[in-house]
Amino acid sequence: MLQENQILDVEIIDLNHMGKGVAKSDNLVIFVDDVIPGDIAKIKITEIKKNYALGELITIIKPSENRIDSACGFFEQCGGCQLMHMNYEEQLKYKRERVINELKRAGVNTEEVTVNDTLGMKTPFRYRNKTTFSVTEKNNDIFIGPYEQGTYNTVDISGCLIQSREADEVVNLFKNLMIKYKIDAYDKMTGKGIVRNIIIRNNRNNELMIVIVTTIENFKNKEELIDNLVSINSNIKTVIQNINNKNTNLVMGRKNKVLYGQGTINDTIDDLSFVISPEAFFQVNPEQTEKLYQTAIQYADINKDEVCFDIYCGIGTISLMAAKYAKKVYGVEIVEQAVVDARANALNNNIHNVEFFAGKAEEVVPKLYKQKIKADVVIVDPPRKGCEKPVIDTIINMSPKKVVYVSCNPSTLARDIKLLEEGGYKLIKAQPVDMFPWTVHVECIVQIKRAETRMK
Ligand code: SAH
Repeated sequence: MLQENQILDVEIIDLNHMGKGVAKSDNLVIFVDDVIPGDIAKIKITEIKKNYALGELITIIKPSENRIDSACGFFEQCGGCQLMHMNYEEQLKYKRERVINELKRAGVNTEEVTVNDTLGMKTPFRYRNKTTFSVTEKNNDIFIGPYEQGTYNTVDISGCLIQSREADEVVNLFKNLMIKYKIDAYDKMTGKGIVRNIIIRNNRNNELMIVIVTTIENFKNKEELIDNLVSINSNIKTVIQNINNKNTNLVMGRKNKVLYGQGTINDTIDDLSFVISPEAFFQVNPEQTEKLYQTAIQYADINKDEVCFDIYCGIGTISLMAAKYAKKVYGVEIVEQAVVDARANALNNNIHNVEFFAGKAEEVVPKLYKQKIKADVVIVDPPRKGCEKPVIDTIINMSPKKVVYVSCNPSTLARDIKLLEEGGYKLIKAQPVDMFPWTVHVECIVQIKRAETRMK
């Protein structure tokens, strides 16, 4: 029997969905950080639970052939990336295997299903167009950066290899200006201080939007801070102050104030242009987003006589791409501002065969169906928790020819495919796309068709 504090040598046989290495001893699964499959490691058991144990790496006895030195000096502390010690090709394989394993685990019939190789990036660095960093006071110093693994402690980093160089520059400039103008960072423990977070978004032309999240609206030297920021860095096109005075882990509060510029930036996907407001959801990896959306459109294979639903449509990105090929597209989204943005995006791009509805998909979609608005093709792109049951049930009743599911969580994807399968649908093919290199996140698009036997 394993004991706490026991030291043992193990072989790492797998990686779980959080990026922890998996080993086995005495029939007990042990999860270990900082290791990858193929590593032989000396570990110490730190905790024993009913069905598993946790271990801590002491030393690597023999490294896996896929182990590499992390390109980032902050990897050990930072909670942002989990796979900086695994070669990129292997990450792509791991992500494909996770999709296959989750499908099998949910009992999906995978016999005739093609799961393509993960679409990766040529240069998997500096890909993010959005950075959200926390700002905290520690030992009279200002820390700006992501959170440590599993905690809300800020790692003070001078640069991040997955965000843009421009964002790195802004972080360092902002910190210096906070020091120069004696502006306090927020202290979570005491609730005192002013600046809580900085959000930096960049578009493809490297124009920047900065959102500064503060506890109060007015503070000393605010104008000087902003004047300096925008005059030193001419890439900054707009600065927004967001006020969040709540004791919460949510980054943004309800109130926004535009301090400089228009309050939005524009970005493009394919030949479409989009207005991005501070809260808008916009895919963070532009290079991969194009591949993701193009695959979605290809899998949807819509023709001009067909009606398409884009459920969980955000600011209407996929809807507008689909509109070119469809008779009509209906978009459904819970965030009202995103729907306002989606409508504006449609007008700006001169697209008129789309209609957007604000509300919960689980309420709006059944309502549309009741009103006899039916889809020939359904595209869904839900958050991590997957589709709500009423959405799946309505799709089954509505009986579209095709369902294209864009997913950021293979486990809820597999669960929902299984439900569709029970409703007479069949998984045809799957395409994992690496939207987040060096992290464990797996994005995947699948094509699902109404089974022949169910054709009306
Ligand atoms: N397809 C868009 C957005 C995908 S993210 C894009 O690619 O940009 C998932 C979206 O689902 C978010 O915009 C989120 O606000 C929305 N959402 C979350 N829960 C929802 C629900 N119950 N009903 C409708 N939309 C929801």
